Amino acid sequence: MAKSNANTELCKGCRLCIQVCPKQAIIPLEDLNKAGYKIIAINTAACIGCGMCYRMCPDYVFSIEQETKSYG
Ligand code: SF4
Ligand code: SF4
Repeated sequence: MAKSNANTELCKGCRLCIQVCPKQAIIPLEDLNKAGYKIIAINTAACIGCGMCYRMCPDYVFSIEQETKSYG
């Protein structure tokens, strides 16, 4: 399954992504990035790779990546 990946150094702390995620997989953090904005984290276990965060984020924080499966 595809998963969202976040480059939080680009985040501006608007929190728009949190409102659009259908799985509540985006967690607001109190941690700041180097630019001084509050960042987010992705709960990868909950993420379904729908891409809503990717489409909503004005600052290109997200990328959707295919998860590589490893067996054994
Ligand atoms: S929408 Fe983008 S800039 Fe806004 S909080 Fe989410 S990741 Fe950060
Ligand atoms: S890809 Fe979809 S499920 Fe995953 S964090 Fe973004 S909005 Fe949430």
